Amino acid sequence: MIDLDFQIVQQLGYIFSAMLFIYGLKMLSKEDTAARGNLVSSTGMFLAVLVTIVEIINPLLVISAIVLGGLIGSIFALKVKMTSIPEMVALFNGFGGLSSFFLAWSEFNNLTTSSLIMLITYATVIIGGVTFSGSVIAFLKLSEMFKGGNNFLNQASRWFLIFSLIFIAIAALQIVVSSLGIYSFNFEIIQQVFIALLIISILSGLAFVVPIGGGDMPVVISLLNSLSGIAAASAGILLTNTALIVAGCLVGASGLVLTLIMAKSMNRTLYNIFFVGYESSGSSSAEIDGEIKPISAEDAYLVVESARSALIVPGYGMAVAQAQHVVKELGDLLEENGCEVSFGIHPVAGRMPGHMNVLLAEANVSYDNLLEPKDINPKMDTVDIAIVIGANDVVNPSATEEPGSPIYGMPILEVHRAKTVMVLKRSMASGFAGVQNPLFFKENSRMLFGDAKESISKLVAEFKD
Ligand code: NDP
Repeated sequence: MIDLDFQIVQQLGYIFSAMLFIYGLKMLSKEDTAARGNLVSSTGMFLAVLVTIVEIINPLLVISAIVLGGLIGSIFALKVKMTSIPEMVALFNGFGGLSSFFLAWSEFNNLTTSSLIMLITYATVIIGGVTFSGSVIAFLKLSEMFKGGNNFLNQASRWFLIFSLIFIAIAALQIVVSSLGIYSFNFEIIQQVFIALLIISILSGLAFVVPIGGGDMPVVISLLNSLSGIAAASAGILLTNTALIVAGCLVGASGLVLTLIMAKSMNRTLYNIFFVGYESSGSSSAEIDGEIKPISAEDAYLVVESARSALIVPGYGMAVAQAQHVVKELGDLLEENGCEVSFGIHPVAGRMPGHMNVLLAEANVSYDNLLEPKDINPKMDTVDIAIVIGANDVVNPSATEEPGSPIYGMPILEVHRAKTVMVLKRSMASGFAGVQNPLFFKENSRMLFGDAKESISKLVAEFKD
């Protein structure tokens, strides 16, 4: 009787925590409720953990693990630089996958005869393993410790993936054949296949992400995020834990929607991204006409000061320079000067989905002022000055003008069509996709070299003088 009562309380706890997850997720969609939404969802997770560990006979081990994990996580989160948040998010996805992988592995030893549970265990191991090792490669690529494979490695990876798929199909077939009583494999063989599956799933994650490069990484990162949720949901089925299933499904489904949005922003199909890749892996070979025209901060001020409409386009360099607050200050000063200011936000600018939105929200830039490429491109000819702050790939006209370019077809913010473009960066280095940018050589372009924060601070100082 007591047991039954507790189970009801536990299930009610799970349902309530699921409601908090969903409500919190909804609140994340608006900038003024996002922080509270995070808190609401975290409370839901706290409740879910609480009603789960109360049931455990010896919760000391679990509590020690929570304290240790919490301590390690907090130290890393406090120490990590703002610019390394995308790498940390990639690792978080990976650890989510790894915990599902271990969980399914441990469940394998407690397996009853249910072939469905066995198949779910296999699926959890595969998705968890792929998520973990794929996320490690994503982490290395984002932190620029690994630039991507050569043609041989990319081809080998694709062949390995085909081999893995065949092996997985055979392993699944083995279970089905046993459960239908067609043939009975002895447990040792099943165990050996499972161990091979553990190894193959980890190697498949590497093979999956190594060949994907250039501009396609945002899609991969969203997909890995989604996979970590799917792995958690199937681990939840193994543990019959409602909260884990709900939380996993929420992450899995929202990650999948994000994956599709990111693929659409890159104008790429998922098939192309994962199975074809870019035909050329290096930088574009086309000769670039024109010459670069550096400009001093004093001259840049004169150009900016006379503009009646300005489009500010932030990119990864703004995150590196942590220039968002001075950018907001410059925007305010321009508006006080009678200039109409808006911000052009490319969905894949920066190194994680929503990167620019987060930084600008931190600096209190209104969401109403943020425009997507499809909103601002048709009006680009009327913009007096486009101020490009540490963005490169997302404003590269090769994407629309040069069919041989590795980023050809990706929608961009077409700042080259503005009356004047001012690009703030430190050197002529290329962006994440490793492609040269003809924008810098256009007749209407001016290059303001230097750290973005310093350059904008100089402009702000000129305005205040
Ligand atoms: P890019 O990576 O194309 O370019 C960033 C530019 O910022 C560089 O050219 C760099 O030039 C400049 N920069 C770096 N530090 C500073 C600084 N302190 N001050 C001024 N400039 C600086 O960035 P974009 O945002 O244009 O494009 C994002 C790219 O990243 C795309 O290719 C996208 O596909 C990819 N990506 C995006 C992800 C996402 O989810 N958003 C995830 C993974 C990849 P210099 O060194 O000369 O200063």
